[in-house]
Amino acid sequence: MKDKWDLRFKNLALFISHWSKDPSTQVGCIAVKDRRVIATGYNGFPVGISDDKRDYEDREIKLKKTIHAEKNMIYNACRHGQSLEGSTVYISGLPTCEECWKGLVQVGVTRVVMPEVETAKEEWIEGCKKAVEYMEEAGVEVYQYNPWQFGWELLKTELPEESRKIKLDGK
Ligand SMILES: [Zn+2]
Repeated sequence: MKDKWDLRFKNLALFISHWSKDPSTQVGCIAVKDRRVIATGYNGFPVGISDDKRDYEDREIKLKKTIHAEKNMIYNACRHGQSLEGSTVYISGLPTCEECWKGLVQVGVTRVVMPEVETAKEEWIEGCKKAVEYMEEAGVEVYQYNPWQFGWELLKTELPEESRKIKLDGK
């Protein structure tokens, strides 16, 4: 992590990953430019496609219908006419896979901050390593962080004591 902004945006990607309805794998992705979030995405089914809980439990159906967080972020940017040229992408949950890196390169992302490739499922690690190699070959700066090293606690310590007290009862 270069600075507190890296940490903040990494944590924002983590927050967004929890919007995924997939009970086993939750990945969040955001693109940032000039310290502004310009696109977000998380793993899930396409808009308008039934996302019944049972479809997430059937691995075969789930894999057929799921869009990875990085691609969803790109599609969301596209839908809103937002260029990703020169952006930094923050990913939480899993490192970029052997498919998604191509999209990130093609839309002009210049920096990727993602979990260490070793945190992927064993059968995915080789593909993720290749993804890093190819992204670097294409001139993308890749920063891999240890997801257990940077947690919510670090974010919370930046906030004043008073703002940490969340009032839910309206009093
Ligand atoms: Zn992917």
